[in-house]
Amino acid sequence: MKKPMMRAMLFEAPGVPLRLVERPVPVPGPGELLVRVEACAVCRTDLHVVDGDLTEPKLPLVPGHEIVGVVEAVGSGNIGAHRQGQRVGIPWLGHTCGHCPYCRSGAENLCETPHFTGYTRDGGFATHVVADAAYSFTLDPEADPVGLAPLLCAGLIGWRALQKAGEEAQHIGLYGFGAAAHIISQICKWQGREVYAFTRPGDIEAQHFARDLGARWAGGSDERPPRMLDAAIIFAPLGALVPAALASLRRGGRVVCGGIHMSDIPAMPYSLLWQEREVVSVANLTRHDAEEFFPVARKAAVKTHTTPYPLERANEALADLRAGRFSGAAVLLP
Ligand SMILES: [Zn+2]
Ligand SMILES: [Zn+2]
Repeated sequence: MKKPMMRAMLFEAPGVPLRLVERPVPVPGPGELLVRVEACAVCRTDLHVVDGDLTEPKLPLVPGHEIVGVVEAVGSGNIGAHRQGQRVGIPWLGHTCGHCPYCRSGAENLCETPHFTGYTRDGGFATHVVADAAYSFTLDPEADPVGLAPLLCAGLIGWRALQKAGEEAQHIGLYGFGAAAHIISQICKWQGREVYAFTRPGDIEAQHFARDLGARWAGGSDERPPRMLDAAIIFAPLGALVPAALASLRRGGRVVCGGIHMSDIPAMPYSLLWQEREVVSVANLTRHDAEEFFPVARKAAVKTHTTPYPLERANEALADLRAGRFSGAAVLLP
């Protein structure tokens, strides 16, 4: 009998375009799900992988970690509540050890020996993917899979960054108004907080987009907001934004760096940090973040703005993300 085949976009080396390949559909192992991909959003982290900024990918690799799909087959052993035919979401956090000091203290996002979807295990730039059932989330079967896909990383990491900004932060700056910021600004609005959106200088279109989504103010990252901010979240991978954001913070305010990779932070006067201002980073996600976030996204009626691309055009989607040629998120459709 002929083996069932799948298609995938394969990453083989930094700087080399992804290559469309056909290969046998994998068989899920114990505790795993075989998922037919409905949609997979493209994240800035995927750019850091294909550009070689993240230096330890599995090779060759199928990138993609904002996956929405349907369970097509299940492995033996414990697969939790997942069943064949159900819709699941597969995020960046693919597996954790469960016994290191971080896992044991509820910080599985900092696990010492984790697996990451689309980085250390194959991801969703494909028609099929195998995932650890324990790190897959049940998603609304009625929702549009394309609209859901950006919630799996832009939404989750954005949510974690917003939590880090602090519940008391009322006036929040968002630096880099891409996929994560466009989701988080809708949640901020629903929570009654004020968003101040910072885009690439001169990117009038992104500033309009931010105002349309409820931002109180939008301007270039070289501008100062009309008031001091309680917190700022930096989604753009530019270290130079750290001193810029600190300069707009009130005393005791906090800058949260939401990206996995950033260019160097330039030297800056200590006075920017003085008065108990803080700079922190956000790494990965926990499953608890997802338990909190998906209901919030539903209650806040978050509407993602997406630009769909056929799977075969993943390279184009990555190039358009790099150049900032669309608003919201790119989503690949197999
Ligand atoms: Zn661990
Ligand atoms: Zn991501």
